[in-house]
Amino acid sequence: MARLSRTKKKELYHSIKGARDIFGDEYRLREWFIERAKHVATFYGFGPIATPHLERAELFGTTLGGTTDVVQKQMYAFRTRGGESVALRPEGTAPIMRAYIEHGMHTWPQPVLFWYAGNFFRHENPQRGRWREFYQFGLEVLGTEDPVADGLVIHVAVLMLREVGLQNVLVHLNSLGCKECRAVWRKELVAYFRKHGNALCKDCKRRLKENPLRILDCKEERCREASTNAPQSVSYLCAHCKQHFREVLEHLDDAGIAYVLDHLLVRGLDYYSRTTFEIFFEKPGESAESDNSETKTEVGTEESEKKKLLALGGGGRYDYLGEVIGSRNVPAVGMALGVDRIIPLLREHGKIPKSLQEPPKVFFVQLGTTAKRKSLHLMEELRKAKIPLAQSLSKDSLKSQLRIASRLGVFYAAILGQKEALDDTIIIRDMDSGAQETLPFVKSIEYLKSKLRGKGQPRPPEITDEEDE
Ligand code: AMP
Repeated sequence: MARLSRTKKKELYHSIKGARDIFGDEYRLREWFIERAKHVATFYGFGPIATPHLERAELFGTTLGGTTDVVQKQMYAFRTRGGESVALRPEGTAPIMRAYIEHGMHTWPQPVLFWYAGNFFRHENPQRGRWREFYQFGLEVLGTEDPVADGLVIHVAVLMLREVGLQNVLVHLNSLGCKECRAVWRKELVAYFRKHGNALCKDCKRRLKENPLRILDCKEERCREASTNAPQSVSYLCAHCKQHFREVLEHLDDAGIAYVLDHLLVRGLDYYSRTTFEIFFEKPGESAESDNSETKTEVGTEESEKKKLLALGGGGRYDYLGEVIGSRNVPAVGMALGVDRIIPLLREHGKIPKSLQEPPKVFFVQLGTTAKRKSLHLMEELRKAKIPLAQSLSKDSLKSQLRIASRLGVFYAAILGQKEALDDTIIIRDMDSGAQETLPFVKSIEYLKSKLRGKGQPRPPEITDEEDE
């Protein structure tokens, strides 16, 4: 077999476009956010659900809408060796509705409340805050039409953000109405855009025939202008939908949630009815724009692109999805938060607990074969005593291990030399003063605990590329 050049290898063994590795600080922040979000969701009665990453492709094809970008362009769909047509899940709602119907959850006390967290896949144009593999934390309330469920979902989503320190949250809100009033509005919309047909971009001319609602969230300047005076869905709501929307707004008022009505908010998937919403974190002086998947490739200077706020989450009602999947009437509402977009905000605005960043306070140094062999056992004793520890067991010299200890900023080094390993003792070195004491190992744990008690957090580690040895 021909040998690959270094450059070729680099290309071949690189993560694929739109996917990435998550580790270190980002991983810890993500775990922490998910843990806090679960805590809030659980309090409000949401139970966990995990659905498979692979589903039958038809599940998404029939539910999200055959003419949506998610289905037409973004779904990772393929045939298995057995000839089955499957897709990597692009979103979480359709699988959960499938699970609800498949497991007869309509016989459970209604509504059924779920939270879920996991990876989703869309073959989109990767750009700021947009990945082909991304992580969502979602909520679903299945089996109720009551507007309080819409209020609950939005409220809990906002609380999950506030819980981690993102206080300044604004909800963009709209109502698309039910089948009846939506049809009237759609007709008016088509008539309006026919008159303005020439002003629309190429994609929107196609949308006018296939999916006219989506013209409203096109970000092309010409389409935005054309949409300014377009008929607004809220003006066409039937009495029932109007009342429903009014009650949703009242629930948000009562919960003290800031919102604005956004007549252009139609969202990317066909299954939405009535309430739709998106959630933004507002920095002073910046304003939010609706963020939908068909608008990803659009224009704008680099500066204006950077300033644009990205939706941290979105969702809405999907009262007809149950009929499409299982011929069952299951009114429902849900939402998903984009965790990849939340993490960078946490670094700047989050209320990150100290324990998450807890750096090691002691460095374990070992010298010689006997000491190295005893190390694993002794370090476990320190772990049980909850002493945050670092080590570099593969290093042999005292100098190089102490250099790492000093870079890490630990308060103490626990040094196990050949003699100490035989005597069951250990040397505790104060990294500031250089003073050393030899103690029996069993006593050293209590000694370290008492010394560390008043110390607080060590200084942040020095980051350097310098070789240690
Ligand atoms: P959606 O499933 O389209 O309703 O999206 C809900 C939220 O998930 C959005 O508001 C984003 O925060 C996030 N999201 C959606 N698509 C992506 C993506 N490709 N990359 C990163 N986050 C995404």
